[in-house]
Amino acid sequence: MERIKEFLNKRQQDSLLRTLKPFSLREKGFVCIGGKRYVDFSSNDYLGLSSHPYIKKNAKDAIDKFGAGICSSRLLSGDIELFGILEKRIADFKQKESALIFNSGYQANLGIISAICGKNDVVFSDRLNHASIVDGILLSGAKLFRFNHNDIGHLETLLKKHRAKFQRCLIITESIFSMDGDLAPIREIVKLKKKYTSMLLVDEAHATGIFGDDGSGVVASYRLSDDVDLIMGTFGKALGSFGAYLACSKPLRDLLINKCRSFIYSTALSPAVIASNIAAVDIVRYDPFRRQLLLEKANYLREQLRSKGFEVLGSSQIIPVVIGESRKTVLLSEKLQEKGYWALPIRPPTVPEGSSRIRFSLNYYHRKSMLKKLAEDMATLS
Ligand SMILES: *Cc1c(COP(=O)(O)O)cnc(C)c1O
Repeated sequence: MERIKEFLNKRQQDSLLRTLKPFSLREKGFVCIGGKRYVDFSSNDYLGLSSHPYIKKNAKDAIDKFGAGICSSRLLSGDIELFGILEKRIADFKQKESALIFNSGYQANLGIISAICGKNDVVFSDRLNHASIVDGILLSGAKLFRFNHNDIGHLETLLKKHRAKFQRCLIITESIFSMDGDLAPIREIVKLKKKYTSMLLVDEAHATGIFGDDGSGVVASYRLSDDVDLIMGTFGKALGSFGAYLACSKPLRDLLINKCRSFIYSTALSPAVIASNIAAVDIVRYDPFRRQLLLEKANYLREQLRSKGFEVLGSSQIIPVVIGESRKTVLLSEKLQEKGYWALPIRPPTVPEGSSRIRFSLNYYHRKSMLKKLAEDMATLS
């Protein structure tokens, strides 16, 4: 007990204590917390699809037909027809031979990486890759080398020095990075992957639904689907619901069905969730309007904040404003909350020491006038 208290006190002193904040309602770009309404800059519901009427109707119809839950792993009796429909849609969307649905992005990365890599293998992973990627690598027992964020030169130096000592080699990057909101040099990584006989896994969690002509993500928009062996992403962000996908070759899919423990030993997603995801993919493919508007507004807010002298990172709908010191960042976030903005501080260990930031996640419902006001308020408060 003493050790637990000590840990929590230390976290509190360092302004690093995480707590849950129950909210009563989230709607159209706002959240209600403790009876107060805030403009929501914290959700990943970038396109506002979580409340889309067509998606909600599809979910309700699936409950009526299949019930609330599947209550079995897919390998036992859980493989209802909706999975096949969704997997076909995803394979098409991502221009890969096949696809496999996972219960969440976290479970996907954990299971995929540990199924395809073992202790004689090596993984090269961008330093800013998501925790689920790091955990998957640790679980696999493979040797891990982390290259500096988006640093192709560093990646090649590490490959040259270490690749030959191992059997299989896997390179992993996100396409749009969740904490910096920037884009990976995927074309250059593909060249290195070929030169050093490696597999490549790209995590499109924050790009799916937003980038590319049909919203399928960065990889397909660069016409690199054939060169990226494993393209994964989640349904829990722009697609508005829950769950994750992997698009890959048929043999890789078969391997995962046999070896991937987070796929084998977990109850399949509920019918409502799968039906929502099918509807969301259709909306994203055939309605470019939402993502175009979103990226336009992101550019606008970035310009507004830069014109006020802020250090703004990224080139996507994720807009991190670097404040620096942890305490100062928390203070600013509290002041923003007083003004009615829900934008949370991101601190170490999620980001490097001294680069604490406020991260604004834009969504379809934010209006330009709100964003202009936000930039003005940021300038007054900091
Ligand atoms: C959110 C996220 C995940 C995890 O996805 P969940 O479906 O939320 O578990 C994985 N990778 C990246 C890059 C993410 O941002």
